[in-house]
Amino acid sequence: MASPRVAPPADSILDLTPDAALERLSQWVAARGLPRFRTEQMHRRLWVQPIASWQDATELPVTVREALDLELPLRRLAEELSELSSDGTRKFLWRLDDGEAVESVLIPSGTRRTLCISSQAGCALGCVFCATGRMGFRRNLSPFEIAGQVREVILRDPADKPSNIVFMGMGEPLLNWPGVDTALTILNRPEGLGIGARHITVSTVGIIPGMEKLAARPEQFRLAISLHAPTAERRLAIMPIEKKYDLKAVLEAASAFRKRITFEYVMIAGKNDSDQDADALATLANKQGALVNLLPLHPGGAPGLEATPPNRIKNFASRLQARGVEAVVRRSRGLDIQAACGQLAGKSGGPTA
Ligand code: SAH
Ligand code: SF4
Repeated sequence: MASPRVAPPADSILDLTPDAALERLSQWVAARGLPRFRTEQMHRRLWVQPIASWQDATELPVTVREALDLELPLRRLAEELSELSSDGTRKFLWRLDDGEAVESVLIPSGTRRTLCISSQAGCALGCVFCATGRMGFRRNLSPFEIAGQVREVILRDPADKPSNIVFMGMGEPLLNWPGVDTALTILNRPEGLGIGARHITVSTVGIIPGMEKLAARPEQFRLAISLHAPTAERRLAIMPIEKKYDLKAVLEAASAFRKRITFEYVMIAGKNDSDQDADALATLANKQGALVNLLPLHPGGAPGLEATPPNRIKNFASRLQARGVEAVVRRSRGLDIQAACGQLAGKSGGPTA
């Protein structure tokens, strides 16, 4: 069977910003001669108090619900798999209307519930350590397909409503700016999912035009840069994107952010974990005032890469800290169910035969 690559319907009611959806609903209400207060009732059901289908909006007359289901249906992501890790992390595999598949990971930690969401099916950038990169690029996700990952989690269990969102699932968010731009609005606005901008992190390898667009937004979304190496030469060996947007230019673009940024740094034995690497990274982090997240390498990327041993990661972190850098060694979550960073490959059946 050939791989299906049909573009998703881009203008469903859940693909619109809350303002645009309100406009669409009020036109619909006016055209049917319904009282104006119906618009607000319907609007809350999109994101604020989501429902699986209009049939569940019992505050609306049955005839209105039926008409809405036909004319402005609420899209869904089909839950194909939900797997619970021994550490409480839960991975979801969503099947999209055209057969593509993407994953989200819900990571509880104290009172926080962080949902790691996908912005693309696959990824074109081929970082050597990443399972998503090995899949290649399939397609961009629509705004609903991005924000809908959160909606589906809430529909499943309202108690799971995420407090934090990280764009660290599949794909490079800043190569899908139109989808991510609208999804950010839906996630953040009170008439959307109402998640504070400071609790939403966009992670990027440094797509400069996208970074500029993100920096131009008035909300203070957080930015994480996947740095992974402190020099252009070492970075190029593991991240082909360095050819197009080099380290120096990426760091310059990062200076436009008003908030403190984070450097993500996957530790790979012999590639980026020497003392000299730590010193060079400390210089960059100090210049930028960046926090550093050190991630143990998870299996799933290029064969032949080895994780830096835990002791060496600790030493690397201490070396950064001794130079005044705030460095944190990230705990690996969801390893047993291939839900950890860099392990998402939309597996379990997959869209192609
Ligand atoms: N494309 C974006 C966002 C998705 S990747 C980006 O690269 O930033 C999310 C995070 O997972 C990135 O920091 C990435 O470097 C990390 N990651 C990828 N492969 C990994 C692996 N094998 N082990 C640990 N982290 C990995
Ligand atoms: Fe794409 Fe990010 Fe994976 Fe690199 S690390 S291949 S940019 S998803």
